[in-house]
Amino acid sequence: MPAGRPDEATDGAPQERWDVVVIGAGVAGLVAARDLADAGLRTLVVDGRDAPGGAVRGHEVAGLRLDAGAESFATRGGVVADYLTELGLGERICAPSGLGSWVHLPSGDGPLPRTGLLGIPSSPWSADVRRTIGLLGAARAALDLVLPRRVGADATTLGALVRARMGARVLDRLVRPIVGGVHAAEPDDLAVGAVAPTLPDALAGSRGSLARAVRTLRASAPAGSAVGGITGGMNVLVSALVEAVQTAGGEVRVRTAVSAARTDDDGWTLTTSEGTLRTHAVLLAAPTPDLLPALLPSLAPASQPDPGAEVTLVTLVVDAPALDGAPRGTGVLVAREATDVQAKALTHATAKWPWLAGQTPPGRHVVRLSYGRADGVRSGDDDASLPVPGTGVDPLATALTDASVLLGTPLTRDQLVDHAVVRWTQALPRPSAAHRAFVASVRAAVAAGAADADAGAPTATSRPRVAVAGAWVAGNGLASVVPDARAAAGSLLG
Ligand SMILES: Cc1cc2nc3c(=O)[nH]c(=O)nc-3n(C[C@H](O)[C@H](O)[C@H](O)COP(=O)(O)OP(=O)(O)OC[C@H]3O[C@@H](n4cnc5c(N)ncnc54)[C@H](O)[C@@H]3O)c2cc1C
Repeated sequence: MPAGRPDEATDGAPQERWDVVVIGAGVAGLVAARDLADAGLRTLVVDGRDAPGGAVRGHEVAGLRLDAGAESFATRGGVVADYLTELGLGERICAPSGLGSWVHLPSGDGPLPRTGLLGIPSSPWSADVRRTIGLLGAARAALDLVLPRRVGADATTLGALVRARMGARVLDRLVRPIVGGVHAAEPDDLAVGAVAPTLPDALAGSRGSLARAVRTLRASAPAGSAVGGITGGMNVLVSALVEAVQTAGGEVRVRTAVSAARTDDDGWTLTTSEGTLRTHAVLLAAPTPDLLPALLPSLAPASQPDPGAEVTLVTLVVDAPALDGAPRGTGVLVAREATDVQAKALTHATAKWPWLAGQTPPGRHVVRLSYGRADGVRSGDDDASLPVPGTGVDPLATALTDASVLLGTPLTRDQLVDHAVVRWTQALPRPSAAHRAFVASVRAAVAAGAADADAGAPTATSRPRVAVAGAWVAGNGLASVVPDARAAAGSLLG
């Protein structure tokens, strides 16, 4: 039974009436819905896919429950850990194994700096940095410590800043592989403040030196890993959120895509694949360009979010005792110049997450490879028969070959226990300058809509209102998405 009240539509068909409909049951939508339902609003979350969670949903591979997308969270600020604790998941928070990760270069593999920020080393002369960028590269990077403040001061992108202060080797061998792995984007396309919000202030206090700025930031960060996980996988968060929304009286409905919205003085009418919904307020927690003109009429019609990087993940479960020693630590990022593999990155999941190693029999390993662009595929589709993007080649064969190269260990089909291929589109908006301008105009349009609604009456249940949440406005990653979603819910609660 829906918690929404049945209502009469003009054609006589019954309609459901809700206080708030949240569009998108990713983490953003679920986090917001929990707060809205907790506050007593009749809250419905709808999602077009057949399972909630968006980029944090889970899947079964070789009898293991694994993350199909996000597998960790950034520990910065403690926001995600605090939220998990509030949800009752505090005891399940775990750290990765600390084995460190590697970069795959044409010149051979090297460790990534353990004390860096997005690959920017805090100590250009440290042994791990020298091993990966060579003596010449380290010498050029160390110049950063003596270069005048003005060098790089006018750089607007991360790529330009790193190139100016530390040189091309740091950029190509350390920063680009990490930025590609985290944001699926080029450092030259990313504003510094968008990917490292605290770096500009730290640079101001370090006489322009990147290494000193990174050192300061690392020293002020709490001890421990920069990322955390959940025992059982990040998808445990989704199950907990769905349960919390339901316990608070809300409802989460899948296979219900919203295709159109219309407003009148009394609220919103949403057209979904499963019928029509009436609601006083809408919280848009999905990047849906088609709905923006109706939901945010003051937004310039040409405004569009970044279409998002397209990523294919191939998960392999293999019986390979040779991997017991974790030959490449927790995983490998691939430098752009390395052309012997097609993967962009490899995560050795059983080496990274002790809880997962504990669930697998001796000698069995979970390895996940990520690939770049794909075209015309719905986000999050599971389909092991899809070719690896741009290659037309069997993804399994490609992934086995790439994993063998990246791990330095031959892996064959005979060793394969199971595999899965998942494609993500729209799920990783690139924080380019154009996207940031789009987000600013969305925020302005939301504020304009709120001002109009406030001119009528002050609560969500009295005038139609709209709020927005999710990575498409807050930026990628749970550390950005969770607090932003709570703020969006708060804006509707007034
Ligand atoms: C492969 C991958 C790996 C990642 N790894 C990490 C990581 O390790 N750590 C980290 O912090 N972050 C990671 N991220 C980023 C992080 O997962 C996302 O930033 C975050 O989960 C986004 O949540 P969201 O709710 O904003 O959007 P999404 O998770 O994209 O959810 C949006 C939901 O809206 C639904 N939807 C869209 N349109 C409609 C419509 N018209 N009607 C109804 N429903 C609709 C979609 O089906 C989807 O379920 C990763 C992302 C990806 C793709």
